[in-house]
Amino acid sequence: MVFEGMNPASGKRSLCDGFEQLIFCNDPSVGLKAIISMHSTVLGPATGGCRMWTYASEQEAFTDVLRLSKGMTYKAAISGLNWGGGKAVIIGNPKTDKREGIFEKFGEYVDKLGGNYVTAKDVGIGADDLKRIKSKTSHVLGIEGEAGSSGDPSPATAWGVFHGIKACVKKVFGTSSLSGRKIALQGLGSVNYYLLEHLMAEGASVIGCDIDQAMLDRAVMKYRIETVNPDAIYDVPCDIFAPGALGAVINTKTLSRLKTKIIAGAANNQLATSEDGYEVTKRGMIYAPDYAINAGGLINIYYEGVAQGGYSKARAYEHVSRIENIIGDILDRAEAENLPTHIIADRIAEERVEQARRGQIQTR
Ligand code: NAD
Repeated sequence: MVFEGMNPASGKRSLCDGFEQLIFCNDPSVGLKAIISMHSTVLGPATGGCRMWTYASEQEAFTDVLRLSKGMTYKAAISGLNWGGGKAVIIGNPKTDKREGIFEKFGEYVDKLGGNYVTAKDVGIGADDLKRIKSKTSHVLGIEGEAGSSGDPSPATAWGVFHGIKACVKKVFGTSSLSGRKIALQGLGSVNYYLLEHLMAEGASVIGCDIDQAMLDRAVMKYRIETVNPDAIYDVPCDIFAPGALGAVINTKTLSRLKTKIIAGAANNQLATSEDGYEVTKRGMIYAPDYAINAGGLINIYYEGVAQGGYSKARAYEHVSRIENIIGDILDRAEAENLPTHIIADRIAEERVEQARRGQIQTR
């Protein structure tokens, strides 16, 4: 999903169009300034992490929380989860502004929503912060180290990306085997390091890069992969380019350099603009929409939910592996309708929400 915020000054559409509920949380006594955005609860509780960030302005925080919560609706919907989309942002420096009582107060705001918003960890929030939120509300998931927790989402994300890559390879080469396929990994951090294990086990040939020498060394020591300078990764002739570091890496500059048939990786917001998604198709490449291929962590945490009967890794990972079918369906429909994959992914997600709205699918 490419979030293209509308300019309220244009008078055409409001920035908040389609959002169910926005809550501003202000408590000067503890220095809390936060926004909770519930984009949709049609499929289930609006679920999404809480981010703490030094936003340059309240407007910037507002735009971010809208964009992120909408993205969660699409990610949950395409993954077949009975969750809606939500997100929260706390405005402040995560290193210096975590004042006494701030997370407890935020927890009280979450609790008042009666489970319609469920929070979790995001950038700037640690397990201890989450525990303090949980002292005031039960509507918190993903506290690493706690009994019943689904733990670090990265291995599940990697498992999903691995299956998404297989779906792409099947589409292009007719078989989902990665044996002998050349894969260029951008970033060798949490997700891509776990992904490497699956790729190597299947006999893929991997070339990787990272700006952090320690991450590079770790991957080379364990898997003996080839490496390249970070900027040169776009020029590597390969079967699959797997972005696993930054957003907006598919843009007018990189598209003319890429020598791959497939773009499929974990990074969020890979397309700089929607037009770049059209350009991918024009250039004869296929793109696995980011929020569909990287949903493994979200699917994993879903199985922590009480409605799912308590966390079970086996059930969670079985669902994560279905990302192969999800991506396969997107690719087939994109071909049939002659449209780029990111447009088709949005349509599939929107159709599922609409079906739930009309009571045509069972969600709770
Ligand atoms: P991470 O921070 O552990 O790893 C990212 C790595 O990329 C780091 O090692 C960093 O040094 C490297 N990097 C940064 N800039 C780079 C550059 N220009 N070139 C090459 N390497 C560079 O993060 P992660 O958890 O592995 O997540 C990777 C991506 O996947 C992010 O975009 C994240 O938003 C997305 N994602 C992660 C998860 C998850 O479960 N962790 C889930 C969904 C999406």
